[in-house]
Amino acid sequence: MASIPILKEREKQIHRKGAQPFSLTCGQHSLAGVVSQRACVFCGSRVVLYPIADALHLIHGPVGCAAYTWDIRGALSSGPELHRLSFTTDLREKDVIFGGEKKLQRALTELIDAYQPRAAFVYSTCIVGIIGDDVAAVCRQVAREKGIPVLPVHSEGFKGTKKDGYKAACEALFQLVGQGQVDRIDPCSINILGEFNIGGEAWIIKSYYEKMGVAVVATMTGDGRVDAIRRSHGAALNVVQCSGAMTTLAEMMQERYGIPYIRASYFGLEDTSKALYDVAAHFAGNPEIMTRTQSLVREEISAITPELQQIKAAVSGKRAAIYVGGAFKAFSLIKALRYLGMDVVLVGSQTGNDADYQTLREMCDDGTIILDDANPLELSKYIIEKGADLFIGGVKERPIAYKMGIGFCDHNHERKIPLAGYEGMLHFAREVYRSVTSPVWRFAPTRAAAAKEVSP
Ligand code: SF4
Repeated sequence: MASIPILKEREKQIHRKGAQPFSLTCGQHSLAGVVSQRACVFCGSRVVLYPIADALHLIHGPVGCAAYTWDIRGALSSGPELHRLSFTTDLREKDVIFGGEKKLQRALTELIDAYQPRAAFVYSTCIVGIIGDDVAAVCRQVAREKGIPVLPVHSEGFKGTKKDGYKAACEALFQLVGQGQVDRIDPCSINILGEFNIGGEAWIIKSYYEKMGVAVVATMTGDGRVDAIRRSHGAALNVVQCSGAMTTLAEMMQERYGIPYIRASYFGLEDTSKALYDVAAHFAGNPEIMTRTQSLVREEISAITPELQQIKAAVSGKRAAIYVGGAFKAFSLIKALRYLGMDVVLVGSQTGNDADYQTLREMCDDGTIILDDANPLELSKYIIEKGADLFIGGVKERPIAYKMGIGFCDHNHERKIPLAGYEGMLHFAREVYRSVTSPVWRFAPTRAAAAKEVSP
């Protein structure tokens, strides 16, 4: 592999800590012609809404958009599994010329009759934005006819970044909030926002809150149910996980219903404990909640510490690269890797903002590469240069790691193993250990060969 140059237009989105004063451009549209790792607006909205299991998810667009996002999250449901099907209007050339509204109306009517969902989400894709179908009008008409909420998701793929997809999803969800009864909701209750029940993570987190004596009204959107979301405005507090996905909804709920929100992460021992203590502190009027939280944290940590220490002894000193969707996730990953004695040499995100990157800069060691909206070539270049032993990312990063001949750990939405909470930290540490210490890498010549070819 020859030396990999950085495109001039990309230079402002890459920072090497310590080499120059901190400045990183972010929130830009991806550079045209560059194969960005970042997902489109439509995909952003789809990943947020996908886990609502008793809703119909209809993609108004070509079949490719539906295939790209089919079963995109390892989001488990404790009941219905309608979300796991990927319906599409399959727009063709004829629809591009004559419009797709009639096709959308027919598809919606047929699917609602066949599956009897509690609500339907209709996602606009690039082509719908180009031909100008009035998706909202069709949704209104079908909602009147069928008597269920039919919600347009304005997520035309080209119109912004993945973050705009999160916003479109929050706006669609907000149509549901406030429609249900709240009379029997516990005063010590929360909604969990930005949690997607990957591998059952929402169930782990909910079990902690149950032990603490805090009721969960709705998880949005992991193992989601339309009726729970409709009554979520009755909760006393919104706990928002993940940097960007659902902060917009929390802000909307604060403004309209006066519900405060806090941010949380359930990844790693430190951040999980902080999240639980922060929620307990919010219900200071009920001191038993804090007492129960203290015992819970103590018991959970002491149960997993011996095995974590063994893993630490094996992986300490290894180098890790991180490329994730939201930067908030990266903060927790850095802390968890440090707990295991590992060095983070590269960290990047698809949707980080100025404040996120400032925090990353403060957390990282000198020499660490910080990247916004990276592409495969940039990631490959720095993985080789930094001699990373492990790459943590999602489905699009896995092939990069394997081509470089290094270990990979899936921290994104496709995985089936829960990484949240204390038991999640143990799963994560085991996965890191298995990947980094696997003997298979000695048979991967790519990394050594490539390292020789890259100029310093
Ligand atoms: S919405 Fe547009 S960018 Fe997104 S998958 Fe469909 S065609 Fe591709």
